[in-house]
Order: sequence, then C-alpha cells, then structure tokens
Amino acid sequence: MQDTFRHKGLRKKLVDTIREKGITDSKILAAIEAIPRHFFMDSSFLEFAYQDKPFPIGSGQTISQPYTVAFQTMLLDVQRGHKVLEVGTGSGYQACVLTELGVKVFSIERQRKLYIKTKAFIETVNWKPQLFLGDGYEGLPKFAPFDRVLITAAAPEIPAALISQLKTGGYMVIPHGEGEEQTMLRLTKQADGSYTKEEFGVFRFVPMLGDLGND
Ligand code: SAM
Repeated sequence: MQDTFRHKGLRKKLVDTIREKGITDSKILAAIEAIPRHFFMDSSFLEFAYQDKPFPIGSGQTISQPYTVAFQTMLLDVQRGHKVLEVGTGSGYQACVLTELGVKVFSIERQRKLYIKTKAFIETVNWKPQLFLGDGYEGLPKFAPFDRVLITAAAPEIPAALISQLKTGGYMVIPHGEGEEQTMLRLTKQADGSYTKEEFGVFRFVPMLGDLGND
C-alpha cells in the first residue's frame, strides 16, 4: 500500500483537528502524523481513514478514533524505553503509535482471526510491537512488570492481575464501566499494591470480553 502526498496532507489536517480538540503534546501529534492510518484499515474504509472517527476492522471490532488514541496516549505519559502492556491490539494502530514514541509495546488480542490478520500485517510495516494472542484480563506475567498498562476496550471491572503487573508509580489507563459509555480512568499504583484514581470524561468502547472465544 502507498502513502501518497494526498494521504500525508489528509494526515496533517487530522493532526490539526486533534490539536484543536485539546491534544497539545507535540511528540504525540508527530506520531499520529508519522503513521499512515489507512494502512491499518479495511479496503472498504480507506477513503475515511483520516476522519476523526472509529471504523470497523472485522470480527465485530473497531480501530479507535484518532482523538481517543491520542488522548489515551497523553494520559499514559510514556517515556522512551518504557515497557507498555496494551490490552486489545485490534488493528495494531495504537500499538504502533506507542512504538513510534520509543516505547517497547506488548499487546494482547483475544480474537484469533484478528490477531492472525494483524500479526501478518505488522510484519509489513516499520513499527514492531510484540503481539500476543490471549486474554487481556490475565495480562502477560512473563513480561511483567510494566511501566504502563493501556486498556483499549470497555472494562466492566479493574483487572486485578493487571494492577499486580504494574510497577509502583506506574499508570493504568482504562475505560471503565458497563453499558454503552465508560469513564476514562488513570490509576496510579501505590507501593502497597493499591491504586489511586483520576477521572477523565466519558468515552465509548467495544466491550472487553473474558475467556478466549472461537472467533
Ligand atoms: N487498540 C486497537 C487499535 O488500535 O486498533 C483498537 C482496539 S478495539 C477498540 C478493542 C479490542 O479489544 C478488540 O480488538 C477486541 O477483540 C479486544 N479485546 C476485547 N476483550 C479482550 C480481552 N479480554 N483481551 C484482549 N483483547 C480483548
């Protein structure tokens, strides 16, 4: 797939839109500008790739809205060299945005079909997050502890296993709640294993589901 001048122009406009919505971190905006979002989308949605909207990516899932990707990335407040666990690989776009910021990304996807498709696709691009098929509720104990944990599906509860895989002082960013709308939370892990909580408004995500399906 090609990244033409037209795509680059549309991407600049998308970055302007996200900036106007309040994302001012120049490194995050540069990462959004660097990554051809249309590479991550199904062919039938290519022409919409630079609209600030979520789109279907198959298996009943979506690639998140670019503003939401930027917002969650801002809340994560990553530093180069951080180890980040992402739950919900989906298209791999968010994982690549984090990789572009110099982060070592470990991303889990629950749906086999989507995992296989995204894993094959990631081989073809310059960003190399590590992808895993599994249940995000369990995390990746083998690779823990993580500096940051990012959940990109709606979580009805705070996954205890993921708190335990977070470093002291580390952040978990998680859209929390049942139903159609969730509250975006940033949890900070304390030395005694508990966490403090900050709230950042209402978002809409597809649900985080339990044990592996056959899909
Ligand atoms: N981060 C993705 C991207 O950049 O395209 C968008 C994620 S999409 C909104 C949510 C994803 O979470 C879906 O791909 C879904 O299959 C996945 N998911 C849901 N429950 C999960 C779980 N328990 N473990 C891992 N992934 C899960």
